[in-house]
Amino acid sequence: MKDAVAASARKRVRAEFTLAFLRAERLAPGIRHTIRQAGAEGQSASERADHLRRSWRSAPGAIQDIVGTLEAHGIPCFRRDLVGTKANALVATSGKHRAMVFIDLRPDVEDATWAIAHELGHLALHDTADRSNEDSADEFAGEFLAPASTVRELLIAGKDVNDLPEAFAVPPAKFAVHARRSRLITAADYRRLRTLSTPPWDRVGLRPPTRIADAIDQRLGAGESIDDIAASASLTADELRRDYL
Ligand SMILES: [Zn+2]
Repeated sequence: MKDAVAASARKRVRAEFTLAFLRAERLAPGIRHTIRQAGAEGQSASERADHLRRSWRSAPGAIQDIVGTLEAHGIPCFRRDLVGTKANALVATSGKHRAMVFIDLRPDVEDATWAIAHELGHLALHDTADRSNEDSADEFAGEFLAPASTVRELLIAGKDVNDLPEAFAVPPAKFAVHARRSRLITAADYRRLRTLSTPPWDRVGLRPPTRIADAIDQRLGAGESIDDIAASASLTADELRRDYL
């Protein structure tokens, strides 16, 4: 029964994606990503994550702004209600070079960050319609957010393993699986981290998406009216403000 609910919720979200692809192209034409799956067949999910970090020239260590990182590389993000889908984020594609990510309104920053990186993994590794490969998307997320080489350096430098999930802004249980898979922590560390709940870390939340809003701002600056811009995407001005600004 629950799966049937999730299936119908995902169907609703797929319809929202279809509309969002149409509207995004009207509001901010020409946004494309350059992630290619070709040539990646021989790579593990971790290697693929490492490769993408390099090609995106990500600074070493934690990804400071996952939403801004994806948007800077041609993957617009939107906050949307994903209730019932069992997902904190979902990616969809249109053709070979268009992708977007919906981020649910509820999760805290660590869970949202992990979910976004996990969806990026599906984009980099899989046919995104195929949801059967959850483990490799999680492996990708772990290496993308908390590279094993950096974790190792921090541990060698004496950093407390309990502080590492916060350092990378990832959920402790997810970090535990990633670090154990990468042979960075002991079995005892793994068991303890798995049971830690995310502490109420005092930090700013997920940065709001801005890719489409910035394009709309430019059009407003160039003299177009909000009504005309909304109409160009078959939206009312109120809908434009609610969903895209
Ligand atoms: Zn998944």
